[in-house]
Amino acid sequence: MTFEELNLNEKTKRALKDAGYVNPTPIQEQAIPVVLEGKDFIGQSKTGTGKTASYSLPMIEKIDATNKKVQAIVLCPTRELAVQVADEVRKFLKYQEGIKTIAIYGGQSIETQIKMLKKGVQIVIGTPGRIMDHMRRKTLKLDNVKMCVLDEADEMLNMGFEEDIETILKDVPSGRQTVLFSATMNKRIMEITKKYLQNPKKVKIQAEELTVNEIEQISIQVKEAMKSEALMRLIEVYRPQKAIVFCNTKKRVDDLIEVLKQNHFKAEALHGDIKQSGRERIMKRMRNGEFQILVATDVVARGIDIQDVEFVLNYDVPQEEEYYVHRIGRTGRNGNTGKAVTFVVGKEKSKLQSIKRYSNAKIKEGSIPTLAEINKIRNKVTIEKIKSVIDKNEFEYQNILDELKERNNTEDIVKALLTIVCGKNKPKDDIKNEIKINVKNGEIVKLFFNLGKKDNIKVKDIVGSIAANCGISGDKIGKINILDKFSFVEVPGEYVEDIINGMQAKQVKGRNCNIEIAKH
Ligand code: ADP
Ligand code: MG
Repeated sequence: MTFEELNLNEKTKRALKDAGYVNPTPIQEQAIPVVLEGKDFIGQSKTGTGKTASYSLPMIEKIDATNKKVQAIVLCPTRELAVQVADEVRKFLKYQEGIKTIAIYGGQSIETQIKMLKKGVQIVIGTPGRIMDHMRRKTLKLDNVKMCVLDEADEMLNMGFEEDIETILKDVPSGRQTVLFSATMNKRIMEITKKYLQNPKKVKIQAEELTVNEIEQISIQVKEAMKSEALMRLIEVYRPQKAIVFCNTKKRVDDLIEVLKQNHFKAEALHGDIKQSGRERIMKRMRNGEFQILVATDVVARGIDIQDVEFVLNYDVPQEEEYYVHRIGRTGRNGNTGKAVTFVVGKEKSKLQSIKRYSNAKIKEGSIPTLAEINKIRNKVTIEKIKSVIDKNEFEYQNILDELKERNNTEDIVKALLTIVCGKNKPKDDIKNEIKINVKNGEIVKLFFNLGKKDNIKVKDIVGSIAANCGISGDKIGKINILDKFSFVEVPGEYVEDIINGMQAKQVKGRNCNIEIAKH
């Protein structure tokens, strides 16, 4: 949306353009039309989200420039804020000479203020104490006030202005419009709104909701052991140029990076252990599209300023609800659409519910892409590649083709070429279905691991890949015995199923690995 689409007069629009305002902020987008209609309004949004223009732009529309009486008042908690708001309003009034505004607050000579009020101003912006002062002296009359704004209501109450506010509101004609803005809401504010606002429209803007709305949000139930596989499948299906994956700890980031690299994805880690200069370098490379997947912790989520991230994955459900909004706010920026997927393991479902409540987000349930879907995508990619070569019509190998044609028919040649071209992109059929294994918890089970010294496998490789692929930390793993051609790994029974499934079709040190229960 742009300010052009809002029902504001041309002079204001020109002034907005001069001030560099192009797109309304979320609170402005929601507040301006409602306040223009004359409705009472309660707006909650954080500092710096543009609340001032949310009320002052519609306020300006309501002022009768030919009438010099006070028609609108804005109550602010401090002198600094009153001055700031007045400056902002004057910016919007740049091309409207008939409308005047002043800021009145304690600490400035009351005589000066009286003189200015006498000259005729339509918009008075002030602190409650000083406004009351002028009311008592009858130097400020409120009987023509059509609109009354309580800005930073929470701050005003914190500063003990409750009674003053009530006194002022009681003195303003009852047919007025009242709007209230606050960064936070509490019972006392709600009581004021009940008493003095009529049938108000309430809008609460979560930090970054702007982006959140444009993001398709999906949750997927997974087993811990399937997470990395699920992630790789999602990347293959969505095929984002840029994706960010969030883990809850640095260790999880490092483990996942290991798996992604082993599987030939271009991925980089970003977390608190990486020095600032290193982080900046990684961000720059990401912006330039030098790699596809950034794996990060929450510590750095806020600092990530990359515009065209198409896919965000919560590899772990965030520990704080607020983080969810920060994380997924990395995608869907500037009107682009984005996708955000959250992996949910077992009991984490309730955590997801509280995230939904907190962020007001619509999160659909999805599922891990199936192998059939993956294969379809892979075929599509191959076909696209071939088509694009045909389209470009840049063929340099006529002599090879001629030679092949001497002995083979064209279809056979094509079949052979496809086998070569598909290469590592060949349809997956090597992942077995999830295996059910029944062993008792606590019972130590010996696992057979098909890699050994000849594959240059070390204890840390085995522990690392089990941690990364199965989410099972090294301290849970017992004795590891690495022999020449294979190894044995002892683990408690409760982890066996996750390890065997999680390690399916995985590589360790570039070797396909296979784990099963040892037959002794
Ligand atoms: P809040 O009252 O919510 O803390 P402000 O109204 O003071 O926020 O606005 C914060 C800053 O953003 C101000 O410098 C303001 O001029 C600027 N601003 C507000 N809305 C817009 C907009 N739509 N486009 C550009 N800048 C804006
Ligand atoms: Mg403000």
